[in-house]
Amino acid sequence: MRARLGDETGTLFSDSPERIALVYPSPYRTGMSSLGFQTIYRVIHERGRNAERAFLPDDVEAWKRSRLPLLTYESQRPVSDFPVVALSVAYEIEIAGLIQCLELSGIPPLAEDRNERHPLVLCGGPLTFSNPLPLAPYADAVLMGECDESIHIALDVALEGGSRRTVLEALARALPSAFVPSIHGDEMPEVEKADLCKLPAWGPIRTPHTELRDMFLIEAERGCSRGCKYCVMRRSTNGGMRIVPMETILGLIPDDAKRVGLVGAAVSDHPKIADIVETLADQGRGVGLSSLRPDRLNDRFVAALKKGGYRTLTTASDGASQRLRDQMQRKAQERHLVRAAELTRAHGLERMKLYMMVGLPDEVDEDIDELVQFGIGLSKIAPISLGIAPFVSKRNTPLDGMPFAGIKLVEQRMDRLRRGVKGRVDIRATSARWAWIEWVLAQGGRPEGRAVLDAVHAGGRFADWKRAFEALPAMRTKRSLSVVA
Ligand code: SF4
Repeated sequence: MRARLGDETGTLFSDSPERIALVYPSPYRTGMSSLGFQTIYRVIHERGRNAERAFLPDDVEAWKRSRLPLLTYESQRPVSDFPVVALSVAYEIEIAGLIQCLELSGIPPLAEDRNERHPLVLCGGPLTFSNPLPLAPYADAVLMGECDESIHIALDVALEGGSRRTVLEALARALPSAFVPSIHGDEMPEVEKADLCKLPAWGPIRTPHTELRDMFLIEAERGCSRGCKYCVMRRSTNGGMRIVPMETILGLIPDDAKRVGLVGAAVSDHPKIADIVETLADQGRGVGLSSLRPDRLNDRFVAALKKGGYRTLTTASDGASQRLRDQMQRKAQERHLVRAAELTRAHGLERMKLYMMVGLPDEVDEDIDELVQFGIGLSKIAPISLGIAPFVSKRNTPLDGMPFAGIKLVEQRMDRLRRGVKGRVDIRATSARWAWIEWVLAQGGRPEGRAVLDAVHAGGRFADWKRAFEALPAMRTKRSLSVVA
């Protein structure tokens, strides 16, 4: 921890008596790549409070054996010494990491087992945009949506003191976007939308110990104006896309930042994106973008990306066939993807990586066959990698409630794809089994969330999760389990 701290630029320290432990329920490498986590850390400090970071240890078992409690990076104090512990949860399976972080801290993971001696546990993060109900057994309160401002209101209340009950009641009154499970039951409030003046988010810390190595992270836009049916960040969420002016972005980048990461759900839809990337590349900086839409790529933009250090052109088409892409209202057309491959070759990039989903509703083998032919066609233009993820339906999207295609079926389709493109296209696939677990939680409620504790205590392997979910009475009737079997 000390070595990592020593390698950071921009770490914030404070001797304010108002102390908050900000915990990321995945390892440092992942947590420090999160712009949201870094931004909340910064804005708490800007309000004159002291936020200190802690992460799920890289090796949880080794940490347990050391008998050390979970410590914060800034002062190496136990997390349990802080009056408030705030956790940022990005997606469903991180609930396991949340439980482990609390247990390593000596804090009972279930809210019902905590008392006045224990810190108040607040949760927030991207998961709150879809379905935070499985967090309900663990969180004293969940801050829904964009917390740029609401975190201060929550901390004003939480740090004022008083009994746990008084604080939670005051929080529910003061903050309409606070979900307090012990008061609200299963009724979750609307997600918070931050004021435009709070944008952009930017991260104060640069570190060599993440994938994004020493990158200065800044938000170029928030949200998306498109309407892909499976996506939580589609235009109906928080009013679509909010754009940060180019001058504001450039003005916030420190002179000594050699690499800049431009972040946003649809960052390549920023009307000045090519100008921004070109300016940064001309200043001699490396540039990374969190997403590239194929229909936004053109010669000038790709030339700027190349100059900014891009070696792989990464984009997404999501549906295996044009029929599925149309059904999903995904704008990417074959011609855009072909053009992206041509631009990859024309600008001397090493390869094009294309993200794709398998197991979408209505998908049939012929859709996979179309992808095989299309992938082979693209590979004649430029080296191609396909990143395949099984489709998981999420709340707060038009595809909410869709069943999981089934582990067996997803694996069969992946095999069909692998066999079809063998030797011509590189395939990287994420696990169908873990996608099923994600689906159970994405579509589940408190009981599914509570079952995660059993799965973690049983060892956290797939079989442990499956057993924990199978033990739920409601699950026995769900189609999902028969599909898994
Ligand atoms: S998948 Fe991408 S382009 Fe489609 S709505 Fe979501 S963020 Fe926007």
